[in-house]
Amino acid sequence: MSSLHKDKVFWVTGAASGIGRATADELVLDGAKVLATDLAGSDFSWAKNNASLETLSCDVTKEEDNEAAVETALRQFGRLDGAVLNAGMAVPVALLDETLETFDQTMDVNVRGVVLGVRAACKKMAQGSAITVTASISGLRGDPGMWTYNASKGAVLNLVRSLSMELACLGIRINALCPGPVETKMTAGFEGAGKEALRQCIPLKRWGRASEVATAHSWLLSSKASFITGTSLPVDGGVSANNGQFRPPEHQ
Ligand code: NAD
Repeated sequence: MSSLHKDKVFWVTGAASGIGRATADELVLDGAKVLATDLAGSDFSWAKNNASLETLSCDVTKEEDNEAAVETALRQFGRLDGAVLNAGMAVPVALLDETLETFDQTMDVNVRGVVLGVRAACKKMAQGSAITVTASISGLRGDPGMWTYNASKGAVLNLVRSLSMELACLGIRINALCPGPVETKMTAGFEGAGKEALRQCIPLKRWGRASEVATAHSWLLSSKASFITGTSLPVDGGVSANNGQFRPPEHQ
């Protein structure tokens, strides 16, 4: 337990599992109060009986849900010092054989959802507040079969750069994190050879843990990162440092 975020209140989206849940836990460990939101029906049993955690249904694609989340944080905890806009989806789409329904849905959640979250939060946050967005190293370059996800995460990275200029005038920082492969519900489909092949592409030679992304969120939200805005931080075991020609060597 630290006092890094003593008396601070944060809102975390997509917080029922994975990186969002780990970030909510990390912020509470760092002394904050947290409103954890996710889709209706999400399992928030882990957050029960913790006075520092409040939970709420919030579909990030709905403007009224985003506004209700901010109102709930204010009503429950009296203030809002930051938001972790983390909710996301990743579904492969065959470019020529499928409709654009999944593409539209992905852009809605991964990009428009962030715009709605920023708009709702910034109306109620004071100078010195901060926002972090869970983007992805998939926003930096392409992945086979993942063009929809790549496009959405690339868009959100440039959105964060651009919004940093809008928000600087309000004294609010915004930064993105670019996780590499992290073991969560989203990546549960990677098993056996597929999971091992990805591991071999990671210079640190292991998949990441949600808690390792959570600590980066907590740090970027804190006053320790007070001169950092508009940037994107890879949390990827070195994947994005490799230009892809050669597979990083196994450790001795
Ligand atoms: P996860 O599946 O455990 O969590 C994603 C959460 O987002 C889920 O709880 C889901 O219900 C929620 N969500 C989806 N659509 C939503 C909506 N419309 N409104 C509200 N919530 C919604 O997966 P995760 O890996 O923890 O993903 C968190 C973020 O991290 C995502 O943005 C994802 O793209 C990003 N990311 C994950 C990895 C990885 O390897 N796991 C890598 C890079 C980036």
